[in-house]
Amino acid sequence: MKVLVLNAGSSSHKSYLYELTGPLPPTPPTPLWQATIDWSGGGQLVAKANQARQERHLTEAERPRAIAHLIATLTEGNTAVLENWQEIAIVGHRVVHGGADYSQPTRIDADVKATIRDLCTLAPAHNPVNLAGIEAIEQLLGDVPQLAVFDTAFHQQMPAAARTYPLPYEWVERGIRRYGFHGISHEYCSQRAAQLLDKPLDSLRLITCHLGNGCSLAAVQEGHSIDTTMGFTPLEGLMMGSRSGSIDPAIALYLQRQHDFTPDQVDRLLNKESGLKGIAGGDGDLRAVLAGREQGDERAQLAFAMYVHSLRRQIGAMLGVLGGLEALVFAGGIGENSPDVRAAACGALEFLGLRLDAAANQDRPRDRDIALPDSTVRVLVIATAEDWAIAQACHRYWQAELA
Ligand code: ADP
Repeated sequence: MKVLVLNAGSSSHKSYLYELTGPLPPTPPTPLWQATIDWSGGGQLVAKANQARQERHLTEAERPRAIAHLIATLTEGNTAVLENWQEIAIVGHRVVHGGADYSQPTRIDADVKATIRDLCTLAPAHNPVNLAGIEAIEQLLGDVPQLAVFDTAFHQQMPAAARTYPLPYEWVERGIRRYGFHGISHEYCSQRAAQLLDKPLDSLRLITCHLGNGCSLAAVQEGHSIDTTMGFTPLEGLMMGSRSGSIDPAIALYLQRQHDFTPDQVDRLLNKESGLKGIAGGDGDLRAVLAGREQGDERAQLAFAMYVHSLRRQIGAMLGVLGGLEALVFAGGIGENSPDVRAAACGALEFLGLRLDAAANQDRPRDRDIALPDSTVRVLVIATAEDWAIAQACHRYWQAELA
C-alpha cells in the first residue's frame, strides 16, 4: 500500500510517499518520493524521486495551492511515481495540537477538523497550516482516508499532578493545562530505544531529549510520557533556538506595563527573538554559536553555557520524576549531531555511574549506544523519524480499521 505523509511546519512543508509491503522495518526505508516547500526562501519547491529532481519557485503564497503543486510532482515530470492519485491508500498528517481530546492517531472528519480549527489559537504557527494541508488533500484526492497524528497525544496520559498548573481551579477546568509537544518524536525514540537495548519498553525508564530548533524532554515510564518540559504551548521548558523556554512569567507583565509591549510584541520577543538567538545574536543555529564560542565570542560562550545549564537542570527534573533511569536518549538536529552538548549534559550525571564513551560520542553513525560498557545508564543517539512514525501509524490504522 502507498501512504502519503504531510508534515506542515511554520517555515517548511515536507511530504513523503512510502510503499509499505510486508513487515515494516523499524527505521525509515527510502521513500518512493519526497518533496519539500521551504517558505523561508519565499516558497521554494524541491521534489525528489527515482534519483531525479524537480525544483521550482512558487509564486502563490496560498498554502492549499502550493500543496497542489507539490502533490502534482507525484504524477508529473521526472519525479512521477504514480499513474494516478487513487493509488494513495491513506494520508497521514502531523498535527501539532490535539488538545485534551486526542490520545491516538484519529481518522479526520468534520468534528476532528473543527477541533483542530478551535485549537489554532493555542498553536497559531502550526494548526492553521496543518488544516490547510488536510483541506488541500480533500480537494485533490476526494474522500481518501486521512489520519491526524498529534504531537500532543503521547503526553495525554501524564498524571494530573504533572499536567496541572497551580492556577485557580476554574482555569484548570477551562483547559489551561500542560499538553506537551514533540510527542511523535518522543514516542518513536522510546520505541527505538527499547529495540536498541533489546528490552521491553514497559521495563524502561527513559529521558528522551528532542533537541532541534524547538527543544523538549520527556520522562518516559512503561512506554508513557509521565512528564515533559513543554506545556500549554511549545514555549515552556528548555532554552531553544529562538524561544526563551521557562522564564519568570512576570517578565511578560513587566514588558507590557513598563514598556508598553502589546501581547503580539511579547509573543514575538519570547518565541522569535530569545533563546540562543537572543543571547548570541545570529539566527539561533547552534552551529553558529559553537563557531562563535571557538573564536572566543563572549555572548556565544554565554549562550552555550546557558543552553547546557538549562538542559542539565531539566534532565535533573525528569530524573526526580522518574526515580531512576535506564537510558538517556538524544535526538533532533542538536541531539543527533552535537557531541559537545551530549558530553556536557552527561557530565552532570557521572555521580549516577553514567559513563560516556568519549570516542563513540564523536562517531557519526546514528542509532547507537555511546555509553561505556560499565555505565549504569545507557546513552543513546537516535535519528528521530517523525514522518516514518506517521506512516507506521497509518499502516496500523489501515490494518485495524480499513483492511
Ligand atoms: P527543527 O526543530 O526545525 O526540525 P532540527 O531538528 O533540524 O530543527 O535541528 C536544528 C538544530 O540542529 C540547529 O540548531 C542546528 O544548528 C543544529 N545542528 C544541526 N547539525 C548540527 C551539527 N553538526 N552540530 C551542532 N548542531 C547542529
